[in-house]
Amino acid sequence: MFTKKFSALIAVLIFFTAVSVVHAEKKSAWSPELRIGLTSGVKSVTLKFSAPCVMIDAATGKQLKKIPAEKNFVVDATKVSVSAAEIRPEKILLQDLFTTIDGKKYFGGVRLNKVNGSLVVINLVPLEEYLRGVVPKEMSSSFPLEALKAQTVAARSFAMKNRHRHEANGFDLCATNHCQLYDGTSTDEMSDRAIYDTRGEVLMFDGKVADANFHTDSGGMTESVGEVWGTAAPYLIAVKEVIKLGEPWVVKLPAQNFSVQLNIGNVRSVKLSKLTIGKSSVDRTSSGRVKFAQIVGTSKTVTLTGNELRQKFSLPSTLFDMTISGDEVVFTGYGHGHGVGMAQLGAKSYAQDGWSYEKILAHYYRGTELKKVY
Ligand SMILES: [Zn+2]
Repeated sequence: MFTKKFSALIAVLIFFTAVSVVHAEKKSAWSPELRIGLTSGVKSVTLKFSAPCVMIDAATGKQLKKIPAEKNFVVDATKVSVSAAEIRPEKILLQDLFTTIDGKKYFGGVRLNKVNGSLVVINLVPLEEYLRGVVPKEMSSSFPLEALKAQTVAARSFAMKNRHRHEANGFDLCATNHCQLYDGTSTDEMSDRAIYDTRGEVLMFDGKVADANFHTDSGGMTESVGEVWGTAAPYLIAVKEVIKLGEPWVVKLPAQNFSVQLNIGNVRSVKLSKLTIGKSSVDRTSSGRVKFAQIVGTSKTVTLTGNELRQKFSLPSTLFDMTISGDEVVFTGYGHGHGVGMAQLGAKSYAQDGWSYEKILAHYYRGTELKKVY
C-alpha cells in the first residue's frame, strides 16, 4: 500500500518536474530584444513591476533608482532628468518580468524617452515574448496549427527585417497594424504553441532575413511587391491560390459623392478592362489587380491608380471591377488587403488540406529558406 502510494507520489513529482523544466526552458531562453513604441506625448505614466527593478540612464547605464515589486510607480515627465531611462529587472531575466503600463500588462521592461518635455513610452521585450502578443492579434487562434506556425514565422521574420523602422521615433516597431498589431500579454494557448514549436525560425533569402509581408485574403492570387510599393524582392511575386473563390465584396457609392471627391463635374464613364483573376492587361497587373483606371467626368478626365482608388474609397483590395449603374458607382471585387506575401485565409485553407507550415511558407515566399537563427 505504502509502496503504491509512494510510487504514485514519485510519478506525480516526476511529472511536475518535467512540466516545470519545460516552463523553465520556455521562460529563460534568450531572443533578440525589441523596443516597441506604445504611446508618445505622455505627461505621466503609471508603472508596476512583477519583480524588483532598477531605473538606469539609458545613455550611461548609471543606476538612478531602485523600484520595489508590485507597487505603483508613477513617472512624471518633469521629474525625468535624463533623455532616456530604462527600467529593467534587478535579479531575473527580462523575459521573466511583467510590467503593467497604465493598467495594461506587458512582458519585459520599459524605456521612457523624454522628447519636448513629454514621454515616449516604449516596451522593452524579447522577440519571442513580443510574438505572444502579436500572433493572436494577427491571426485567429481557431485557425489550424500549421497556419498559426506559418503566421508566426512570417511575423518573426517581419519583425527582424523591419527592426529600426521607427528609429527616428526612438524605437524599433510600433504596436499598430502599420508594423504589426501587438497587444501585450493577450496570449493564447494555440498561438503560444505555434511560437514555441518554431522558436527562432525565420525566412531567409540570399543570406538575409526576408521581408515577410502578409495580408488577410488574396482573392485568388497574391500580388508582386513591385506592383504595390514599387520595391523589388524576388520572393514576393504573384502566386495563384487554388482555393475556391468566395462571394465578391461590393462597395456602392452615390455617383454625386464620387464625382465631388474627384472634382470632375459629373461622372460619365469609367475606362477599365474587365477583371479576370490571373490575367494582366494594360491597366491591370499580372494578378488582375487594377494598375490604373480612367474616369471621365463632364468637366475633367482623371486617371487614378488602383491604390489611390482603394485609399480614397476605402475599398478592401485593388482586385475589382468598376461600373456605373444608375446614379451609383459600383465596385465589385475579391480579396482583402494589399495582396503581398502570405494570404492568411489561403494559409488556413492550405493547412486544412494538410499542408505543413514549411510548405505554406514556400508557396507564398518563393525561393526563401527556413532557418533557425537562435
Ligand atoms: Zn509602425
